[in-house]
Amino acid sequence: MTDEVRAFLCPECGEPSKSAVHGIAIQNDPEIFPPAEFSLLLCSNNECQEPIVQVREDWGDGFEDDKPVIYLPSKRQLNAAIPAALCDEFEEAQKCFEAKAYRATLVMVRRTLEGTCADQGATKRILAENLRELQAQGKIDGLLAQWADLLRVVGNKGAHFTGEKVSAQDAQDALDFAEALLDHLYVLRARFDAFKARQTKQASP
Ligand SMILES: [Zn+2]
Repeated sequence: MTDEVRAFLCPECGEPSKSAVHGIAIQNDPEIFPPAEFSLLLCSNNECQEPIVQVREDWGDGFEDDKPVIYLPSKRQLNAAIPAALCDEFEEAQKCFEAKAYRATLVMVRRTLEGTCADQGATKRILAENLRELQAQGKIDGLLAQWADLLRVVGNKGAHFTGEKVSAQDAQDALDFAEALLDHLYVLRARFDAFKARQTKQASP
C-alpha cells in the first residue's frame, strides 16, 4: 500500500468516496503509447466497499500530471448487434442516470422503446398500440411484452408532470429492463434462431 489517498465518485454506489492506493501496476510496453498506471482502490462507504481500478497515462510529464479516471468497473457496453440509433438513445438514458436525472432517465428509456418499435416495423402512432401490434405479430411476447408495457407506463411518469418523484431504484430498473429487452430482441433471438437451426440440421442429416 502507498501513502497516497484519492477522492473520487464511486461508480458503484454513486457516493463521494476516498481510498488509499492499495497497489499499482504499470503497463510499459514499448508498442503501446502512452504508458499507463493502474491503481487499486476500495470504496470507503461501508455498505459498498466496491474494488475500483483507476488509470493514469503518461503523455510525457509523468503519471502525476494526469487526472485519474475509472477503469473498472467498466461502463456496460451494448452489444454491437443492437442498431446504432437505439444504442444512442439508450446511452443518453445512462448519462441521465449518472447525472441523477431520474425523470429524464425514464423519458430516454421511453424514447428507446419508441425507437425499438419503429425499428421492429410497428406502424401505429401511439406507443401502447405499437407494442400491441408487435405482440400480435409475435415479435415480442410473454414476459418481454410485460416488460415493454411497464417501461411504457413508467416512461409516462417521466414525460408528464404528476408532481411525483422518480426514485433512483425505479430509474435503475427501467434502464436494466430496457437493456434486457434490447438484448433479447437483437442478440439472444438471433442466437437462438441459429442454435435452433443447428439442432434441426443435426436431427435430420
Ligand atoms: Zn461505493
